[in-house]
Amino acid sequence: MESTIPATVTDVERVSPGFVRVALAVDDSWSSLGVGDEFIHVELGAATVDAGDGHTARHYTISGVIPGGFEMEIATHGHGPGAAWGTSVLPGDGVLISEPKAYYAPPGAEVPRLLLGDATALPAIARILAEASAEEWFSVVIELGTMADARALPSAAHVELEWRIGGNGVGPSVLPDAAARLLDATDREPYLWVACESVVSRRIRSMARVDRGLPTRALRIVGYWHADQEKIMSVWNSLTDDQKERYAAVWREDRTDEENWIEAEPLLRAFGV
Ligand SMILES: Cc1cc2nc3c(=O)[nH]c(=O)nc-3n(C[C@H](O)[C@H](O)[C@H](O)COP(=O)(O)OP(=O)(O)OC[C@H]3O[C@@H](n4cnc5c(N)ncnc54)[C@H](O)[C@@H]3O)c2cc1C
Repeated sequence: MESTIPATVTDVERVSPGFVRVALAVDDSWSSLGVGDEFIHVELGAATVDAGDGHTARHYTISGVIPGGFEMEIATHGHGPGAAWGTSVLPGDGVLISEPKAYYAPPGAEVPRLLLGDATALPAIARILAEASAEEWFSVVIELGTMADARALPSAAHVELEWRIGGNGVGPSVLPDAAARLLDATDREPYLWVACESVVSRRIRSMARVDRGLPTRALRIVGYWHADQEKIMSVWNSLTDDQKERYAAVWREDRTDEENWIEAEPLLRAFGV
């Protein structure tokens, strides 16, 4: 995903203590995929190793599509370039973005949806619920650093929503236990969508796939951020070209990412992350 599409910031609004909503105008060459967790790369000149493709962008969800553009909601945590951009960006600023990409692909409406995420997943979960139909059933757990960032999440669907304090760089994540509890309470194969800190997401994937035997079709688990980005960068920079190529080769386009993860997980462990 290359960030080559020019966009202009048209509005910036603090929606809660930990979130800034940024509206961007784009020309007709950019169009939404219409999927609740669609996201773009925003070029911020930041260091990253995601998928080994060397891009220097940060990922943000399209929280809403508006006339002439779209909105994103930036969690203003930590000390990275993304959070810094979210707290300093002004109307009139320009930025390069990518085409959108999306992960959320649940099966038929009769399959119960389990959504779990931290603050970075709140924009996606809010949009998934807002766009869901009255026939869908959701169990949702969102962990925040502070309840001041909780908000109403309107939906036509049947939604059981739990807000918890945890994760988000302020404490241990409650999401692995919550995911296990929701899986225990589900009497048929669900669709499990998770977005949170990378190590936490890998623990949940291992529990769901290895311990519970859920097939890859029932999962979409995404690491949205790294608790220690500097360590990840240092490990990445210490890898040989051969190791980097082996990692990049895992991410095949002819398989789903959940299938790719079956090979990625042992490789990452071997690299020490
Ligand atoms: C598909 C996708 C969609 C996403 N959508 C959103 C979105 O809509 N809104 C949003 O805010 N984020 C979203 N994220 C997460 C966002 O891309 C990351 O949080 C990103 O790492 C932030 O970049 P940064 O430059 O601020 O921090 P980085 O340079 O990545 O990290 C620097 C340090 O900041 C701290 N840090 C980074 N992220 C967090 C965090 N989330 N909580 C606490 N501390 C942190 C860590 O200590 C880290 O070492 C999404 C990620 C993905 C993959």
